Amino acid sequence: MTRYSAWSVFTNGLAGQRRWKRVWRDAAPKEGYDIVIVGGGLHGLATAYYLAANHGDGARRIAVLEKGWLGGGNAGRNTTIVRSNYMLPGNRAFYEHSLKLWENLSHALNYNVMFSQRAHITLLHTPAARDAAARRYNTMRLTGADGELWSLAQLKRQVPHLNYDNARFPIIGAAVQQRAGTARHDAVAWGYARAADALGVDIIQNCEVTGFTRDDNRVTAVQTNRGVINIGGAGAKTPGKLGIAVAGNSSRLWSLAGLGKLPIETHLLQAFVTEALKPLLDQVVVFGVGGAHFYISQSDKGGMVFGGDLDWYKSYAQRGNLAAVQDVAEAATSILPCLGRVRLLRHWGGLMDMSMDGSPFICKTPLANLYLNAGWNYGGFKASPASGWYFADLIANDRPDPVIADFDLKRFRRGVNIDERGAGPDPKLHG
Ligand SMILES: Cc1cc2nc3c(=O)[nH]c(=O)nc-3n(C[C@H](O)[C@H](O)[C@H](O)COP(=O)(O)OP(=O)(O)OC[C@H]3O[C@@H](n4cnc5c(N)ncnc54)[C@H](O)[C@@H]3O)c2cc1C
Repeated sequence: MTRYSAWSVFTNGLAGQRRWKRVWRDAAPKEGYDIVIVGGGLHGLATAYYLAANHGDGARRIAVLEKGWLGGGNAGRNTTIVRSNYMLPGNRAFYEHSLKLWENLSHALNYNVMFSQRAHITLLHTPAARDAAARRYNTMRLTGADGELWSLAQLKRQVPHLNYDNARFPIIGAAVQQRAGTARHDAVAWGYARAADALGVDIIQNCEVTGFTRDDNRVTAVQTNRGVINIGGAGAKTPGKLGIAVAGNSSRLWSLAGLGKLPIETHLLQAFVTEALKPLLDQVVVFGVGGAHFYISQSDKGGMVFGGDLDWYKSYAQRGNLAAVQDVAEAATSILPCLGRVRLLRHWGGLMDMSMDGSPFICKTPLANLYLNAGWNYGGFKASPASGWYFADLIANDRPDPVIADFDLKRFRRGVNIDERGAGPDPKLHG
């Protein structure tokens, strides 16, 4: 692997950019692996990287199986918002750990993931919302994260273009996390893939898992469109293990493994980008009141990147409908009226793995060597470093770290709901 540095950019420039090496190998599937991760999105790639980097010693043979191309799922479809403004036990330590990993990710991976800590601003419209934000952001400050409340005057100074004059829901201030921001989603997928590959992980694209071979309560092999791949078995240095990190396809894989139903619904979420503009918005701005839900930032290329709520119906179709487009466009122009004359360049959809309480699963399963990573709702991009970190730890050590102790499938039976939004047991309401 070429180590990226100012010097390597300089010397490759002198050589006409012809000396760069492949970023990762195009691995063909082997007969078997010690650990197989299904899903080449951010969570699968991060898991493989941390398995090799934190628990590696180079002994385990690790593969990531991806049915399409790397980053073709939600990994490359999200609006790239990274934050740790969570209040509930369970979530807050997890997301703060993730944010800390983000802060050093480009160095750790030797790949510029373009993490930009430009601040995440949640607009406040009522005194009740301000009180709730004060409780949440004070909890964050008391437990090691950063957070602040801005007055209206402060907000106007920082973000002058919002609709302060005749908004249906007048803005009264904002809750702000300064260390939050955005990153380049493809770069994160490529950075993890490159770093995992350099540590010996086989990243196998165009390799769809179509079935599981089970021996009592263990998975012994997976069937794929590129042949059977053994989990452990002959030549294995450790008992074979299988992790699934397939986001919107989680319930499909779960039922393929013969495990019945998973408490996850798959819903559509769309995102949008406009033509490139001169610098307009330096922060991530979030607007949510009266049924509206809208978030926006400006990409480094100048496009305004934004999204809203789910499309409100379950589907695996990976494309959305026009009603959601209208809804999001209305929210956009109500809060930033200057967007009314900007042309939309593209919009697309992704498959959200919505759980019953809006929080994820990183856990063991009824099968002894099968591990589950799912339930990321709208928030799995920011979670990907910590998700990979703790999922790798779970797979390597066969027990959950205390930070993820409640991210298991039995939490509902114990009466534990990590319902950050207070939306109740309705997956589509957990944005
Ligand atoms: C429009 C949109 C906006 C979003 N905005 C944000 C945001 O601003 N901030 C945030 O934190 N999160 C956001 N998210 C959520 C975030 O993108 C996801 O939670 C996260 O990417 C999911 O994890 P992943 O990257 O591993 O998933 P994916 O990238 O979907 O990876 C799963 C992979 O599994 C593969 N797969 C599925 N079935 C099989 C099979 N049978 N065999 C082999 N491979 C298989 C798929 O092809 C896919 O590549 C957004 C999502 C969308 C769609």
